[in-house]
Amino acid sequence: MQLQSCEIYFIEVMADLMEKIVSLAKRRGFVFPGSEIYGGIGGIYDLGPLGVELANNIKSAWWRNIVRERENVVGLDSSILMSRKVWHTSGHVESFADSLVECKNCHSRFREDILPKSENCPTCGKKDWTPPRMFNLMFKTRIGPTEEAADETFLRPETAQGIFVNFGNVVDTMRVKLPFGIAQIGKGFRNEITIGNFLFRVREFEMMELEYFTFPKQAERDFEYWQKERMDWFLKVGLNKKNLRFREHEETERAHYAIRSVDIEYNWPFMGWGELEGLANRTDYDLKAHSKESGRDLSYFDEASKKKIFPYVIEPSLGVGRTMLAILIDAYSEEKAPTAEKGESETRVVLKFHPNLAPIKAAVLPLVKDEKLIKIAKDIHKDLKREWNSMYDEAGTIGRRYRRQDEIGTPFAITVDFDTIKDKSVTVRDRDTMKQERVAVKKLASYLPDRLN
Ligand code: ATP
Repeated sequence: MQLQSCEIYFIEVMADLMEKIVSLAKRRGFVFPGSEIYGGIGGIYDLGPLGVELANNIKSAWWRNIVRERENVVGLDSSILMSRKVWHTSGHVESFADSLVECKNCHSRFREDILPKSENCPTCGKKDWTPPRMFNLMFKTRIGPTEEAADETFLRPETAQGIFVNFGNVVDTMRVKLPFGIAQIGKGFRNEITIGNFLFRVREFEMMELEYFTFPKQAERDFEYWQKERMDWFLKVGLNKKNLRFREHEETERAHYAIRSVDIEYNWPFMGWGELEGLANRTDYDLKAHSKESGRDLSYFDEASKKKIFPYVIEPSLGVGRTMLAILIDAYSEEKAPTAEKGESETRVVLKFHPNLAPIKAAVLPLVKDEKLIKIAKDIHKDLKREWNSMYDEAGTIGRRYRRQDEIGTPFAITVDFDTIKDKSVTVRDRDTMKQERVAVKKLASYLPDRLN
């Protein structure tokens, strides 16, 4: 297929955008390659000081929306390591696998659905593939000091199973009534065959999962409710509507436990539309299977009908890192801005995060390195730090310090100048409009919250 020149231009611009984001993420302390000093490790990344703040803000925005603002959803934090029986019963040992093809020439391996056999090997350029075979994505590990097969288990590939095995404990202790949800945030591990596209497909990642237990008859209606709720959340945290859509899965695509799956897709610069979050109707598959295998009855007693039932489960599930990547891509912007010298302009890079997600909420900057200004600025910074993640910076010209804050997405820069000594006011600069406003130091405590939430 011949690409049009405008298509080639578009692909180049998008590749360029990703390169800029990956470079900014490293340079400004958002994301570092895992074990970098030893040459890195495929599909593993570490979060730097700003990355961990951004991730924490994403997680707390999700937790607030899913757990704290609802009457019928509770939280849980189950262990990463679980009995191997869990993974046999859930069907993951049998079915959590991707189809893999291997290049006979250089032995590189790829996921068959990502790389059709009709294509040449991206590593060596030859076209000589093995027949596809299934590859289980779970990492094996062992519990205890022996090498016995009975001690073998897996790192969890989803947090959901920790919720299912605790279903009875939550019902007994919290007196929850159907429909209700159990939410959890935690690490998941998948030994992906083909990794890449930065945080999009990695081997260790945090997941945010809700298992919403409901009456089987009501499951379809609740599925649609959660579809809308989840899309609304992405819009609320600042993702651009035009980059989001739903995609219904074909029957052949669905996981072994699901009767319906819909993805919320994002328009990724490196691949076009692709999964950001998955919603699945997992039916009563997991609760029934664990009841049967463990001998513990995980059914629910419905007071109204006086019958025991196995609830259906609606599951919205997403990765923190994949969400962070979409947020970084949508927030990244380059624009012309005037320099300090009159008539000159330069390109400023801004991460236009929703203020709630911004890793640093305010930067406090003394206009110049003067003892009196430094003292006032440090006092303001100390005060703000009690409530907000504030940063103090006195190095370089004020223009350069503004640019540095723009690049990490700090919504407000607070400058202390010589007038501050007289009028007890500071200049507050808005990251997006670059407009400056004089605000009394005393009023800062209410000025920021009004604009950050
Ligand atoms: P994909 O089709 O991209 O492999 P999946 O259908 O296997 O994803 P789910 O099992 O639905 O993914 O996982 C729930 C969510 O976890 C995904 O929507 C995504 O946000 C995140 N996720 C899954 N696999 C990865 C991964 N390897 N790296 C980063 N995030 C992931």
